[in-house]
Amino acid sequence: MYFRPEIEAMAGYAPGEQPQDGEAIKLNTNENPYPPSPAVGRAVEAAVARLQKYPDPMASPFRRQASKLLGVPADWILCGNGSDDILTIVTRALVGQGQLLRMPSPSYILYRTLADLQGARVEEIPFRDDWTLPEKFAEPRDDLRLAILANPNSPSGTVVPPEQVLEIARRLPCPLLVDEAYADFAETNCMSLVAQCDKIMVSRTLSKSYALAGLRFGYLVTQAPLIEQFIKVKDSYNCDALAIAGATAALGDQSWLADNRAKILATRGRMITEMRKLGFVVVDSQSNFTWNTHPTRPARPLYEQLKREGILVRYMNYPGWGDGLRISVGTDAEIDTLLEKLKASVSRP
Ligand SMILES: *Cc1c(COP(=O)(O)O)cnc(C)c1O
Repeated sequence: MYFRPEIEAMAGYAPGEQPQDGEAIKLNTNENPYPPSPAVGRAVEAAVARLQKYPDPMASPFRRQASKLLGVPADWILCGNGSDDILTIVTRALVGQGQLLRMPSPSYILYRTLADLQGARVEEIPFRDDWTLPEKFAEPRDDLRLAILANPNSPSGTVVPPEQVLEIARRLPCPLLVDEAYADFAETNCMSLVAQCDKIMVSRTLSKSYALAGLRFGYLVTQAPLIEQFIKVKDSYNCDALAIAGATAALGDQSWLADNRAKILATRGRMITEMRKLGFVVVDSQSNFTWNTHPTRPARPLYEQLKREGILVRYMNYPGWGDGLRISVGTDAEIDTLLEKLKASVSRP
């Protein structure tokens, strides 16, 4: 065939199901169940009038807005077409053929796909049973070029405390990317560590907490010398003008974020309590999803039954580790329907 051997050998990333008919209750890809701030629509509409021009290559209006919000210099921020674009830029820039990318497991499977594209190797460090991260994650090793930690992690929704993240970064011989896709739902985050350690990079996305998965906008925060190198790797216009306008407006509406977060956290608490009443083992979550297993009911048939009933959750199976259901926090009505269907499923003989 015509392709680089790495491409032919790799499986390719399989995103969660995205039915476009709007009929299913979608609890499978951790989208926000509520529409975004109305400020987003107004900003996008205003930006349409200037679409004949190329966008700002560095998404400067967003960088200025984020700089104010986060208290970091604007030149410490790199914007991307979703945080998946940020992850791609970072991996392409740092990890070469045959070199090593370290990640915990189970975690976000895309990291492995990105390493595969580079012809790089992956070292997986398993979480302990209680989802704490072993010391080994910080150990120097030849050819180690990048470590990525989803924090909060997916599928567990658990958090490695910032003090430990800082220790890990200081011991590692390479940069540490802290993927904070879900940080707005957590009690802690690692943003302030960026100023304390020049090996720490924090990525965020507007897809989850700002309810903008369809807009595609994410960003990276790290010290300026690293940003300068990443700029060489990104597409010249990697963020489009509508996304820049919408994302900047979303960040500007922090009261929308606070209200939305409060709603999601309230539903999450109720969902965990009720799932436990149904006999599920549910990990305490600091995200907008929960990780669920059942001592007697296998996960796959539950997933399939829910799907037949119009509810999509994410069935995850990690070879050698086990399987379970990752369920996004939906609206209260969606979660009530889910609980009703699951109650019927688990009470069937
Ligand atoms: C959803 C998700 C992302 C990607 O978000 P986009 O900005 O939509 O590309 C990154 N990391 C993790 C762990 C996620 O769950």
